Amino acid sequence: MSPSVHIVYIRTFLNGWIAARRMRFLAESGLSDRCVLCHRGMDSIEHLPHCIIIKEFYRHLGINMHNLESFLALEQRQFPEMLPAIAEAIAAIYLARNAIMHSPSNLFNPLELVIQMHVQLNG
Ligand SMILES: [Zn+2]
Repeated sequence: MSPSVHIVYIRTFLNGWIAARRMRFLAESGLSDRCVLCHRGMDSIEHLPHCIIIKEFYRHLGINMHNLESFLALEQRQFPEMLPAIAEAIAAIYLARNAIMHSPSNLFNPLELVIQMHVQLNG
């Protein structure tokens, strides 16, 4: 696991993503408070295990994920064997989310972008 994958995993675990819901200036910023991947759920850590894009991505990787614990590889059947693979999946989601947030328009297919980021992480 690379140091950047480690850092993203720890930030996720500590709810350290800059989620719209946590931003005080949201009202005047004009930013959406919706998940940038699916545009349905709230932009929050709690939403991630329920996000249709993320569910599809985990399915694509063959990872059984159904709640926040399994999203973070904290279930007994997953820990610690699945941790490296899941940390890498979360890093890919984080990178894709940042790319979408910093692009001027919605140019990306979110699922394809997450998969592409995951391929890049694996060099
Ligand atoms: Zn979502």
